[in-house]
Amino acid sequence: MKRKLRMGMVGGGKDAFIGAVHRIAAFMDGKIELVCGAFSIDPVISKESGEELFVSPDRVYATYEEMIAKEAQLPEGERMDFLTIVTPNFLHFGPAKLALENGFDVVVEKPMTVSLEEAKELQETVERTGRTLCLTHTYSGYPMIKQAKAMVKEGHFGKIRKIVVEYPQGWLSRLSEREGNAGAAWRADPKRSGKSLVMGDIGTHAAHLAEYVSGLRITEVCADLSTMVEGRLLDDDGSVLLRFEDKAKGVLMASQISAGEENAVRIRIYGEKGGLEWANEDPNNLIIKMLDQPRQLYRTGNAYAAPFTLSSFATHNTRIPAGHPEGLLESFANIYRNFALTVSAKREGKQPTPEMLDFPNVYDGVRGMAFIENVVNNNEGTEKWTKFVV
Ligand code: NAD
Repeated sequence: MKRKLRMGMVGGGKDAFIGAVHRIAAFMDGKIELVCGAFSIDPVISKESGEELFVSPDRVYATYEEMIAKEAQLPEGERMDFLTIVTPNFLHFGPAKLALENGFDVVVEKPMTVSLEEAKELQETVERTGRTLCLTHTYSGYPMIKQAKAMVKEGHFGKIRKIVVEYPQGWLSRLSEREGNAGAAWRADPKRSGKSLVMGDIGTHAAHLAEYVSGLRITEVCADLSTMVEGRLLDDDGSVLLRFEDKAKGVLMASQISAGEENAVRIRIYGEKGGLEWANEDPNNLIIKMLDQPRQLYRTGNAYAAPFTLSSFATHNTRIPAGHPEGLLESFANIYRNFALTVSAKREGKQPTPEMLDFPNVYDGVRGMAFIENVVNNNEGTEKWTKFVV
């Protein structure tokens, strides 16, 4: 493409959290510009947000329906190319479906929808329209996560036996939804959040990471969900025993009442010959632990000699030389860059490379929604283990 891709936004106004992170990530590589938005549920905040972001006032819309209808009528050289959806969970499906049906590509926050049924409908829409949908599972964009995945895939650890993934946070240790915290209020409301708070908000990140790095799919679950904070309407803590393809076993812990924790995502995977460990709070390190050998530390951005050469997926997603920290914003930007490269390649009639296509998509969104529903159903039922149904 000889120009930047033009982005529109639903949500992400002055009253929002993650929308600003999306803009930083989208702009990092100079491939994307913001041209329009319905930035808030409050039209005044939407207008003010548009002014602050230097968006032309005639392209700041009151609703996403108006935005999609009016943008679709603009000439090809002006209208937005894709829509980023950064609203509460219950407002993902509507704008995503409408955007795809009107010829726009989509970037949407996780969880992709609030039900598996909606997720499957989006999958059908993507397949029928041929458009691209990107789901922002942030942690999958890190170079050392790419390296971990590549090492598992090439058989470095032998057959995988055990996958342990954790996502503890502490920010919902109190009843913050009743104390004026808007982000907590919609997350803890079943109508706006979905069937599970903890699994929708962070458990899906952990489940995606486990399947992405291991290359194995969850086949059965045994779940225990709890509401630890009195008065809360949804769960805030969960442990899930997992069975994967190829007889691998796993444990997933997602918790928002782990008082004092920040965003302590961590994954450990063990095979017959050794294992790996990666943590979000130290993301440029990948610890490799092989049987009968000293531990090794792989670091982002190094030009190691064979047989330690970093994979093409790790280097493709690295921006600066070793020792200069890359973090969450760069990981997020990797997802946007790969999405932009894929969309541009498709528009030019070219086949995107595997590295370009390496971002979470509509199929990951369907698995995420299936994960939530399978865990909730298992927790509510009487069977110890239940099959993972999609
Ligand atoms: P938030 O409450 O801070 O912001 C929501 C925004 O959506 C606000 O600007 C609000 O005005 C706007 N909005 C609501 N209804 C709207 C409508 N009808 N039209 C236009 N705008 C509307 O929420 P948040 O924390 O930014 O979360 C948004 C989404 O991002 C959620 O789905 C959440 O799960 C996800 N999220 C993902 C990550 C990640 O790591 N990938 C991190 C945080 C949040």
